[in-house]
Amino acid sequence: MNRIVKSLVVTAMVTLPFSAALAQEANVQKLADDVYAINLMGYTSLVVIGDEDVLITETANPFRADVLTGEIAKLTDKPVGKIVLSHEHFDHTGGTEIFKGAEIIAQENVRAVANLDPLGMFPDKIDQTFDANMDIDMGTTLVRLHHFGAADGVANTIVQLPEEKIVAIADMYRDGGLTPGVFLTDTNLLGNRKALNAVASWDIEHALNAHSTSTDPASLVATAGFLNDLYDEVQPQIIEMLKDPGHLVPGIMELSETLVLPEYKDWKNYGDLPLYVQKMSFAIMHGG
Ligand SMILES: [Zn+2]
Repeated sequence: MNRIVKSLVVTAMVTLPFSAALAQEANVQKLADDVYAINLMGYTSLVVIGDEDVLITETANPFRADVLTGEIAKLTDKPVGKIVLSHEHFDHTGGTEIFKGAEIIAQENVRAVANLDPLGMFPDKIDQTFDANMDIDMGTTLVRLHHFGAADGVANTIVQLPEEKIVAIADMYRDGGLTPGVFLTDTNLLGNRKALNAVASWDIEHALNAHSTSTDPASLVATAGFLNDLYDEVQPQIIEMLKDPGHLVPGIMELSETLVLPEYKDWKNYGDLPLYVQKMSFAIMHGG
């Protein structure tokens, strides 16, 4: 990102919606020795203090990243040396340049949107990429990165601290309900289902969710169950519809108006179930 664009972005961040967040206090939780969750301005960063340096997630944007440096400085005087991108969505990838010299690590598909970045939020360079898994030994803590395929975005990375039984996930579930349908535009529900089922099978004590202060894994596990139930209802109907492929799209739209999952009716945003039926149906028929 060039300097003029960068300063414009910082100015925009300071003067536009993010300025309201100035008054917000950071919510800092110690989850284990050398491991913290810092919720600030609507995003939660995992912070792992290693022998030499610090690993973080979710810089989000330059303004937040700037405030985050101050919060990390209250925990350690070691520099931030590693930034793991949770995925390629620009509202999560901004501000990495605030941490001078930090190595940026991401799943290799992250570059898919690098040249489509109108706000200059994507890092100028990615230092290390991985395909399915990568281990980072921080000395104090083993950090394991996992990619299960397209999910929320195409480069979704789930961070696991196996010893500490901690995971960090972005944009794949909400506390106590469904993610609003409007945020599903770049979500592959088959991928979310696959990833959340895998994570739900792990031994987890804390699950950091990129937009939540809660680290209770219950909502993650419940969402995996919801996506399984949705899939089990939708998939047989798609097979049935394929007997008359010309009717497939109208059939999906009709299904989205009639299918109900009463077990989830009290969940927040249950009213968006029709969008979930459509997204799951289209994921099953064309993979996205
Ligand atoms: Zn996202």
